[in-house]
Amino acid sequence: MKMGVSGQVQTFTRNQTATQNREIPLAAQAALHPKIRLASAIGKTGARTVLRNPYRSPLIPTTVQNLSVSPHSHEYYGQLTDIILDSFYPSTCSSCNVKMTGRVSTRSYVAKCPKCRKHVSRISHTPFAYLKLPLWTVGWVLDQSATKYPQVITGAEIKRCLNISEDAALRLKKRVQVFASQHKSAVESLFYSELKKRFHKSKDLLEPDKKDINKRVTTPVGNRPIPQSDSVVLFSAKERSNKGRKRFRHHGQTASIYLTDSLGGRQVGVMVQTTTWKGGPALYESIPNQQTKTILPIIQRQIPKNTPFFTDMGMDWLKPYNRNHRTVNHNLQSKRGTGKSRRRFQQNGIHTQAAEGRQGALKTAFRAYRYIKPEHSQLYLNEYSFFGALKYYGAERITSQNQSLLGQNQRPKTKQQGWGLSGMNFSTHNQY
Ligand SMILES: [Zn+2]
Repeated sequence: MKMGVSGQVQTFTRNQTATQNREIPLAAQAALHPKIRLASAIGKTGARTVLRNPYRSPLIPTTVQNLSVSPHSHEYYGQLTDIILDSFYPSTCSSCNVKMTGRVSTRSYVAKCPKCRKHVSRISHTPFAYLKLPLWTVGWVLDQSATKYPQVITGAEIKRCLNISEDAALRLKKRVQVFASQHKSAVESLFYSELKKRFHKSKDLLEPDKKDINKRVTTPVGNRPIPQSDSVVLFSAKERSNKGRKRFRHHGQTASIYLTDSLGGRQVGVMVQTTTWKGGPALYESIPNQQTKTILPIIQRQIPKNTPFFTDMGMDWLKPYNRNHRTVNHNLQSKRGTGKSRRRFQQNGIHTQAAEGRQGALKTAFRAYRYIKPEHSQLYLNEYSFFGALKYYGAERITSQNQSLLGQNQRPKTKQQGWGLSGMNFSTHNQY
């Protein structure tokens, strides 16, 4: 009996398939029956036929709408998820105090203690808790985010590539943002300690010399890259509604992110404070205005005291807090005529070109999002900053810094500063 059945399968060859279903093309057949034998079309070795799922491609549409026919290698991304969870959220047995390296083959989200065989969930208390998608999608989305940097992966792209609903895609994107936000303090402290180490024994910068424009203030520190900070406006109100732009209560950049009072006066644009050095990682902070009380705490968190630091004239109030702070005058008047000087980008070796360059990349990348609300902007910026820092520091340094910040064997909390997955309700920055 058994022989008969298997014999039938083997005799189901190319010619018969073709004659039986002459009217329907093979690709269409494959679409109708997910597990049809595409032996005649694809892989035929002798009398053996190869079982194959139909391809999930816009070229050959299938009626099957789920992740099981995704073109991505589940095995590869499953292993990647394994490594990501192990390095960013290691689980330790509470009774034996050893790493839970054991796995359960049928439940990918479970870790097992090699000694006492206790089970624990590897995704609880992480941003990937209660994930309704298969676990490999975590590896896929993080891998894509990292490889696409300095571009970003949007919710729409996740939806298209994984063939999942828009809600699921956006929720997955949000999980990535929360994941990145959890490691923000680790990245910041790595940034801070690197600067501290670089300048801890250096002499003070020279004072800028207005008469000799070629005299460099950086002579005492040599070629060491100096951190810079600058601000930029994304999605300014100016571009979309000239009448709605708030003109009279704010000056310069701040004006362009608020609507007028007659239209509600709310914030519509995003202002970003960028801190970086040449070739270094970049930190982005969403700021509601450029006042001292807004920017000073950010700078104090990122830049050690009296570290050489370049900004534009908008931050000249910083000098009392940092004796090595130097500013570049972007409005320098030219010596002849009424125009601006061509030296306005650099004076005495002081410039913010590295920060401006990063902002250019940020603007280009964020165009993919079309628009983001100001209240969610910090999450998007954290994500962008994290994948840049991941390239610079590597996962190992970030995780070990995170562990030392949190204390041994602790996981970062998901419910911080309104990162909760259900309601990301920041207090909106409507201060004036
Ligand atoms: Zn144990």
